[in-house]
Amino acid sequence: MNNGTRTEKRCGYVALVGAPNTGKSTLLNALVGSKVSIVSPKVQTTRSRVLGISIIEQSQVIFVDTPGIFEPRRRLDRAMVRAAWQSASGADLVALIIDANRRVDSDTQRIVEGLRENGRKSIAVLNKIDIVKRSSLLLLTERLNEQASYEEFFMISALTGDGVGDLSSYLARAVPPGPWLFPADQISDMPLRLLAAEITREKLYLQLHRELPYSAAVETESWQEFDDGSVRVGQIVYVQRPSQKAIVLGKGGQRVKAIGAAAREELMTILDRKVHLFLHVKTREKWIDDPERYRDLGLDFDA
Ligand code: GDP
Ligand code: MG
Repeated sequence: MNNGTRTEKRCGYVALVGAPNTGKSTLLNALVGSKVSIVSPKVQTTRSRVLGISIIEQSQVIFVDTPGIFEPRRRLDRAMVRAAWQSASGADLVALIIDANRRVDSDTQRIVEGLRENGRKSIAVLNKIDIVKRSSLLLLTERLNEQASYEEFFMISALTGDGVGDLSSYLARAVPPGPWLFPADQISDMPLRLLAAEITREKLYLQLHRELPYSAAVETESWQEFDDGSVRVGQIVYVQRPSQKAIVLGKGGQRVKAIGAAAREELMTILDRKVHLFLHVKTREKWIDDPERYRDLGLDFDA
């Protein structure tokens, strides 16, 4: 018997919110099955809203990865936090991502309160279960239950994929019935130039760790496609001070070469073609106060 409900299409937005470093971007990539958001052990690498689109059963689930929500101090911080809350308020469902390896810290606490005020329908996702004890998961669940009500709890490891399948099936059923908003093969709304810049930015963070402040920026300034299928990508790495430029370049340019090689390799995998990547490092003191940069990132300068 076919009453039509089993083939009914669904589509909706799910916002991934949480404190910085809880694994939102890692989870987004796992849900989408491809790298759409950059990941790093350094906090606040996701600067603006990133969409990842996944087809699960008959549903198109549009995930919104957000910058972490934390206590903002600087202008860039304020803009990022504003962007995160805006994504949450526009979504059909909010998934609060919690690092199960940490306690409910003040950042998470603030988000829980914010969600309660907004009256958003939310689920709690305890991430990183690959590195925590079962008993502490139960305690954490109890704590969260005392503070707010969640539709559902999930315990996952975005890194190993453990529990991610259950979470996706749930989300496929949780989004409302409706036509798909994006073509079936689209996995992100991010232009390739921007994705390419994000990939290089990730390699910068991964290779330089704490040596580089998070104010470093990468822009793709040229993108040339050739008849043989290859592409030439030119990017500028902006830093704020000459001393930072020296760090990015490394001895005899070795560091920037290694960063470029790692970024190029990943770009080749994603684009599935030959890539020539050229990086230039420039000093630009004031970018963090430049309204145009905020627009490029989709952030509100006056947040
Ligand atoms: P975001 O700031 O919330 O987007 O967090 P990221 O996705 O950038 O991840 C922050 C760090 O946590 C990275 O070093 C990830 O590799 C790590 N991470 C994310 N998910 C897991 C997980 O399930 N298990 C473990 N052990 N580490 C994780
Ligand atoms: Mg992130």
